[in-house]
Amino acid sequence: MTSTAVATDGLTLRDVVLTYPDGDRRLTALDAVSLRAVPGELTAIVGPSGSGKSSLLAVAATLLRPDSGQLVVAGQDTAGLSAKQATALRREQIGIVFQQANLLSSLTALEQLLAVAHLRGIRPGRARARAEQLLASVGLGDGKQHRRPHQLSGGERQRVNIARALFAEPAVLLVDEPTSALDHERGAQIIDLLAGITRERRTATLLVTHDHDLLSRADHLLQLTDGRLH
Ligand code: ADP
Ligand code: MG
Repeated sequence: MTSTAVATDGLTLRDVVLTYPDGDRRLTALDAVSLRAVPGELTAIVGPSGSGKSSLLAVAATLLRPDSGQLVVAGQDTAGLSAKQATALRREQIGIVFQQANLLSSLTALEQLLAVAHLRGIRPGRARARAEQLLASVGLGDGKQHRRPHQLSGGERQRVNIARALFAEPAVLLVDEPTSALDHERGAQIIDLLAGITRERRTATLLVTHDHDLLSRADHLLQLTDGRLH
């Protein structure tokens, strides 16, 4: 443990303020946001478009540094980290599922995961076994694993996206509007899948959405309005 380690797991934000340049002023996207996401629990944040949901996830993912406030990921205070150290922390501890699946169009479902393994220097044989098992665990059997994104439905693409985010066995799972491209039933299935993953893999899962209908599976529900959490 380094001197910046603190005795807490999961994800903690304390009084996080994030502003963006806005002409000659600053726009406050996150206004003193504090929250905890703990292992094995699904924390959901609902808020309308423009309320700061994606900004919140970008800070939690160490992709954006807040103007002020504290971010602790898996016991590690991120304040003193260099860009390189933040990248390492992100790779090892944080799984990110973006709104759009962001899959590479020329790769099969299996290859999307193997590409991550390659970047991480994992042995091909071991990587393949793990990728196959992960895809099966999100409901994509053998036949679907060899399909490219255009040969999969929106829900199936989102499952590949989720499996890929789990490859590094992250402590923290960040999910941005995972159901926005799906109909209600498929959206509900994806939320069920994420709730199951959270319990089985003990991830501290933080999910943001503007869709109130899909949140009955969340352990904690928070509301974001104009960058403020209630
Ligand atoms: P949401 O995901 O809830 O729709 P965002 O976090 O994307 O909200 O945006 C919050 C606010 O910050 C909005 O007013 C948006 O216009 C603004 N914003 C987001 N990203 C940027 C950026 N890169 N530069 C300037 N303003 C931004
Ligand atoms: Mg957004």
